[in-house]
Amino acid sequence: MSDVLPQLIEMTRYLADPAKGLAILGEGNTSARIDDDTFYVKASGSSMVNIDANGFVKVSISKVIPLLDEPDAGDADVQEAFQNAMIDAPEGKRPSVEAILHAILLQVPEFAFVGHTHPTYTNMILCSRNCAEAARGRLFPDQIVSMKHKSVYVPYTDPGLPLAREVKRRFEAFVAEEGVLPSVILMQNHGLIVMGNTPRAVASATDMTEKSSKVVVGTYAMGGPHFLAPKDVERIFTRPDEAYRLKSITGNQ
Ligand SMILES: [Zn+2]
Repeated sequence: MSDVLPQLIEMTRYLADPAKGLAILGEGNTSARIDDDTFYVKASGSSMVNIDANGFVKVSISKVIPLLDEPDAGDADVQEAFQNAMIDAPEGKRPSVEAILHAILLQVPEFAFVGHTHPTYTNMILCSRNCAEAARGRLFPDQIVSMKHKSVYVPYTDPGLPLAREVKRRFEAFVAEEGVLPSVILMQNHGLIVMGNTPRAVASATDMTEKSSKVVVGTYAMGGPHFLAPKDVERIFTRPDEAYRLKSITGNQ
């Protein structure tokens, strides 16, 4: 797919629109799969808003994933593995430190694009004392259509490899329990990850997550959220006939 990079650039600029309040300065990062083993991910230090082809680096999935299984790997090991995982790397560029999160998710064949942002309203919830309650549940039908019936929730974890391992663990547990792939991952005291097969799927589920978060925050002025009952959520959420099983991501299933 030769048009992956232009699509990724367009999606990244869309998510960085200052009016949206999803990512400022060097916050956030995006990625797209090129083939079974390689993906583009935002280079460290690039700002999403005016990003162009120079703002991305090409990385090998199979060269960063083994880090997850090295319990003693430290910052220097991560740096070295990232350096070795880059393909045709321009001088002085390296992938975002969150690239490993993208590598984990882009192993799933159904995901071709990933957007990670630190949205203002979503982080109002994720940084609040009521986070566990407020981040759960669904409020209105369009939210379910765009964000599915549930999101993956990841309690605060040290950035870097510990967070990547926890995201992987929670993602796999979600799939095992629900039998479907999630679209949205919420990370406490951090932000949002959205996965999709197209840039539009990522952009729209990101927008819907932030809109839903605004609604949730507003409900706390009126006594708190009234989440839809599970049976009402299930009625709107269309489950695929066959339960999804993770074949490619884990290596241990
Ligand atoms: Zn982040």
